[in-house]
Amino acid sequence: APPAHAATALPILQLVGVRKMFGGFAAVEGIDLDVREGEFLTIVGPSGSGKTTLLRMLAGMDQPSEGNITLRGELINDMPPNRRPTCLVFQSLALFPHKSVGENIAFALKVKGVDAATRKKRALELMRVVRLPDNYHDKNVMKCSGGERQRVALARAFAYDPDVLFFDEPLSALDYKLKKALEKELKDLHRETGKTFIYITHSLEEAMVMSDRIGVMRAGKLVQVGTPEEIYGAPVDRFVSEFVGEVNTLKMTRAGAEWHGVDVPGTFTLAPPKDGAALDEAFVVIRPEYMRFLAPGDRADNRLSGAVYNEYSLGSRIQYQVRVGEKVMLVELSRAHALAPGASREVTIGWDAADAFTLGS
Ligand code: ATP
Repeated sequence: APPAHAATALPILQLVGVRKMFGGFAAVEGIDLDVREGEFLTIVGPSGSGKTTLLRMLAGMDQPSEGNITLRGELINDMPPNRRPTCLVFQSLALFPHKSVGENIAFALKVKGVDAATRKKRALELMRVVRLPDNYHDKNVMKCSGGERQRVALARAFAYDPDVLFFDEPLSALDYKLKKALEKELKDLHRETGKTFIYITHSLEEAMVMSDRIGVMRAGKLVQVGTPEEIYGAPVDRFVSEFVGEVNTLKMTRAGAEWHGVDVPGTFTLAPPKDGAALDEAFVVIRPEYMRFLAPGDRADNRLSGAVYNEYSLGSRIQYQVRVGEKVMLVELSRAHALAPGASREVTIGWDAADAFTLGS
């Protein structure tokens, strides 16, 4: 059989024209989305873009104003949360503070009337899944670290045996190192359990590490859905390209076969836009790591003259700020290609057309 997340499989969740109005304001607008069984899908977007509103509808805490949400083909717009085979892992984690790790995890089973011995057995199994030591079973949950509590919350969600797990920024309160470690663990857990994970965050970095696919939201709309590589390598517009990381954006106008810079002087060669649109005005987006310093005689499709006025160490890489007229361009190089300390700060920077995106908006 094909893997559960294969593109051909029936979507576990399907959204068609989903909209949520608050008074006259559309917090979520016209969302069409197929969530594949077993995938790790992350919804990213800036604050207020509608991520939480979308998740609340998927989890059943809110109903769409328009459109349909189906689960394995069944319409679930009005199905209450406790009847859905889904479970929400909150940002606050919402653990019972006076209970032990084991009691927290086995809560769902207790509600179902499962006996104490079976509950303990299952709690220990789930603790092993999330890599908590057995002797934590009787430990008070408030005596656990932030990362351990995160694992307890996950194990508790797994105890409901949901088909889909929703995560609402579960890692945002944790320190950087723990967060990085838990991102990788969550990804491993996803693979090991084969469940469908739907995760929301405003951190694209987080999304990039964990997700099979990423959906980018802006102002209530889902503007692009794709693999991390697609979102990074083929953003549909400037908003997505700038959300994905630092970029250089240059406005250009076309005169016949030639493109002229609007905010920098010169004539430029542009790759055709990915959607094949015929443009008279375009934005060229060049990632800093595709910009380089040119020595006399070096070839590049496009070049600009400027002056380095700042440089920052990014650890193994260095980022330069280069002033070109009024514009500041970013050039990022590995330390091995850094400008020599004594080298002139008057520089020529360049890039090849194929390394940049041409976007219409
Ligand atoms: P954040 O990252 O800050 O959590 P978000 O992307 O999750 O933001 P939402 O919480 O979904 O955004 O909110 C989207 C928009 O809808 C916001 O403008 C918000 O003010 C508005 N909104 C959300 N819930 C309600 C509500 N119950 N009544 C009125 N407006 C609401």
